[in-house]
Amino acid sequence: MGTIGPVRGADVVVIGAGVIGLAAAGELRRAGVDSVVVLEGRGGVGQGSSSRANGGVRAQFSTRPNIEFSRYSLTEFERMHAESGGELGFHQVGYLLFTGTADGLCGLRAAHDLQRAMGVDTEWLSTDEVLDRAPFLRPDGLLAGTFHARDGIVDPHGVVAFLAAQARGYGATVVTDAAVRSIRSEGRSEGRSGFRISSDAGDFGCEWVVNAAGPDAASVAAMLSLDLPIQPVRRNLAYVEGPPAHGPDGGLIPMCVDLDTGVLVRREKSGGYVLAYSNPDDPPGRETTVDPDFLPQLAGRIGRRFPFLENVPINPRHCWAGLYPETPDHHAVLGAPPPLPRFVQCAGFGGHGLMHAPAAGRAVAEIVTSGECSTFDLRPLRPTRFAENDLVMESAVF
Ligand SMILES: Cc1cc2nc3c(=O)[nH]c(=O)nc-3n(C[C@H](O)[C@H](O)[C@H](O)COP(=O)(O)OP(=O)(O)OC[C@H]3O[C@@H](n4cnc5c(N)ncnc54)[C@H](O)[C@@H]3O)c2cc1C
Repeated sequence: MGTIGPVRGADVVVIGAGVIGLAAAGELRRAGVDSVVVLEGRGGVGQGSSSRANGGVRAQFSTRPNIEFSRYSLTEFERMHAESGGELGFHQVGYLLFTGTADGLCGLRAAHDLQRAMGVDTEWLSTDEVLDRAPFLRPDGLLAGTFHARDGIVDPHGVVAFLAAQARGYGATVVTDAAVRSIRSEGRSEGRSGFRISSDAGDFGCEWVVNAAGPDAASVAAMLSLDLPIQPVRRNLAYVEGPPAHGPDGGLIPMCVDLDTGVLVRREKSGGYVLAYSNPDDPPGRETTVDPDFLPQLAGRIGRRFPFLENVPINPRHCWAGLYPETPDHHAVLGAPPPLPRFVQCAGFGGHGLMHAPAAGRAVAEIVTSGECSTFDLRPLRPTRFAENDLVMESAVF
């Protein structure tokens, strides 16, 4: 793809207008960066993984970096929801995690203790307390659970719309139909580097590049010969109407996570339930039609704890799938690789990119404006950790 018109200049070009790129663009402008351009390959914003998410927001992770990101982002979601007059659709119904196995109990206890040590008010629940919160669960063999009341669900489209409006409102330029085809690093002097980006919407010159291309981040990194172990993995969701609601407020229930089967169940505000199951053995791939194995796998598991959903028919046309941008340790990659200190990678958020977008945006803005991030410890997320074989594994992956 050749140049269309003259080369346009920017301080920072962000590649990708999903929740991560949009959050980064808004925060960069808010932090005082003069000129921020977002280049998005599709015809609109938020049409990649961000449009397929389940909308879960939780602080209940098992590692410091993910809990730190959630703690920050939860507060931001509360602010954004209030500021938008409720358009984020943020319902703080809590996440309820539970288990009936000794291994599950052990992992749950360790995660709970770490969350509490980091100032997150996660509650430890006995079997009876789990059932008080979710009386519809099958109780057989249930051992314990945890609950964090500030967790909840958002409307992914509301989040995209808010972040896009915020980025534009702060003065970032978002260009759609602008797939990036190549990036060249040029003009290195006094430790500074510049970039020339060729896109479907023309060429751009900039001081910094932020790679926020989600499941395609590896191919963007490869444009500068960088190896980024982010792979797309298909994930599926199903929507079922009925059975009738449990309790008041439209029957909203906590996001229920059966740690023993990996099944998630939540109630839609407008009625019905969203069901999820992610097979940990699914191979990487770019397919986004619903996996034919998904419904049988879900059907084989859901009855273990959710008897009221066991025989509810699921219409395959009410299912959808999208891509998790996955890394080997289930943590994002956030930072610049040493040979290119102004090529910031901000991708690989797996199943928690929607909820971590506010923190990601903040981290990118601090890297660009101060050369380092002071709000979060980004060392566990550095791009070189894979080559150094220094990984911290997240186990709360659903
Ligand atoms: C079924 C499902 C359920 C999920 N549930 C949750 C959940 O409950 N909670 C949660 O927090 N997360 C959830 N996620 C994960 C979440 O959706 C992702 O982590 C998040 O959307 C990633 O955002 P992103 O901006 O990095 O990627 P994307 O939204 O994919 O955005 C990347 C953008 O980059 C663009 N792009 C790519 N290459 C180029 C290029 N060369 N030039 C220009 N543009 C380019 C793409 O077109 C795309 O718009 C779920 C995901 C799926 C699929």
